[in-house]
Amino acid sequence: VSDALAELISRERLAARVAELAEQINADYRGREQDLLLVGVLKGCFLFMADLLRHLEFSPAIDFMRLASYGPDTETSGVVEIRKDVEIPVAGRDVLIVEDIIDTGLTLDYLRRHLMAGSPKSVRICTLLDKPARRKVSLVADYVGFTIGDDFVVGYGLDYHERHRGRPSICVLNPDSDE
Ligand code: 5GP
Repeated sequence: VSDALAELISRERLAARVAELAEQINADYRGREQDLLLVGVLKGCFLFMADLLRHLEFSPAIDFMRLASYGPDTETSGVVEIRKDVEIPVAGRDVLIVEDIIDTGLTLDYLRRHLMAGSPKSVRICTLLDKPARRKVSLVADYVGFTIGDDFVVGYGLDYHERHRGRPSICVLNPDSDE
């Protein structure tokens, strides 16, 4: 492990919290799980979504979206472009967005409005990480794994220039370093 990375959330804490989130989701959607659609936001969601899904007591439909937003290195501008949309129609579905991290909230605010336009029964948000101090729009997730401070983090699916996605824990990156 490089000096530029400091572990913030261990793989054990991640695993335990993901199991707890799945328990909440199990309880909330029990009995109406046939309409549930998990929509993962690529790429950062892929490990979280896989682990979450394996803890659910039902086997919902899943789909993915891919968004691009423009801005400086480690920040979103709010100008969001849909690179890949959902393929399963959301009409009449209980949509659960699965996101890696909410920072300014601009990406998910856009995404939620986009999905609402498809007439789903409901749209909820499940995020592994939340940085509420950085919010630019009022956006509250329904399921939050960990609330963190104003740090740029990598690991467990999250990258910096495509690096570190496979790290099993969440680490704080110093973006000024060479890592
Ligand atoms: P928002 O629109 O909420 O500002 O940004 C959300 C997106 O910005 C996330 O899906 C993620 O791609 C990226 N992002 C925000 N904060 C971080 C961070 O600390 N680490 C990484 N790797 N990506 C982040």
